[in-house]
Amino acid sequence: MIQGTLMKGYAGFYYVYADDRVWECSLRGRFRVKKQEFIPGDKVMVLPGTGDKATIEKVLERQNSLVRPYIANVDQVLLVFSLKTPDPDYNLLDRLLIQAGEAGISILIVFTKEDLDVGNKTPSVDYRRIGYEVVQVSNRTLTGIDEIAERLKGNVSVLAGPSGSGKSSLINALNPGKALKTGNVSDKIGRGRHTTRHVELLSVAGGLVADTPGFSSLYLPEMKREELQSYFPEFVRIKQECRFSSCLHDKEPDCAVKEALSESLISSSRYEHYLQFLKEVIEHEKKY
Ligand code: GDP
Ligand code: ZN
Repeated sequence: MIQGTLMKGYAGFYYVYADDRVWECSLRGRFRVKKQEFIPGDKVMVLPGTGDKATIEKVLERQNSLVRPYIANVDQVLLVFSLKTPDPDYNLLDRLLIQAGEAGISILIVFTKEDLDVGNKTPSVDYRRIGYEVVQVSNRTLTGIDEIAERLKGNVSVLAGPSGSGKSSLINALNPGKALKTGNVSDKIGRGRHTTRHVELLSVAGGLVADTPGFSSLYLPEMKREELQSYFPEFVRIKQECRFSSCLHDKEPDCAVKEALSESLISSSRYEHYLQFLKEVIEHEKKY
């Protein structure tokens, strides 16, 4: 038996990625009786039959599952933003960092369109300084694509980011010769409109990638107001120097975060987003 990952279920068959290939599997009878639900990303043990046919003999315990898209055992999210056309929406990036952080999924920031002239903007440097891992790529010249391939290998990944940031181009750049359908926006990876469509995992560079972007909601997850700052690593490092241990870094006196802001050690854009998100979190808190 070999271990694999479920890519999709379709018309009574289950497509499983194992040993670098896709197996068309049927289920062992007892699973059918139990009416067990499988979702893409579930780890299974399969018994190869003839050709590409196999049987699912066992389903391993699910480590975690994401709701948007509905996938099990997600290893990482790639937050994909273009350096230009469109310009990066840093509010959205900071929002996605909180959503992914709260979901406990490891994060890789990917800035695309590295081939375009972006002047002296250095978002990669800025986010690396905060502590995030960042890769800059061009889906045109293929700069950085090997590094992404390395990251995808053996993992289940979800891409997130605004429309037009180059998510489907990235998958195509990683999968030469196996191009996704392009054309209609709703027909490619960014198909937010086809809500009834089931998510599936695509085999990309020795790993699996969801064909639907993740974290498509703009709402921040519900949390206590004190929790928000834990998703700002540059605040976490200095918050013990605030006068009040309960400091929200807003109106409080002797706040180390505001001090760092005034010395430009913390970016004003990050701080502004923090205050905006704090308001949203508090608004939401009040409803209960
Ligand atoms: P998605 O909506 O995130 O899937 O974005 P697409 O992959 O459809 O890309 C949007 C547009 O940006 C298309 O016209 C792509 O050709 C273009 N594009 C994507 N990646 C790059 C890149 O690295 N460099 C340049 N110059 N253009 C890119
Ligand atoms: Zn403070």
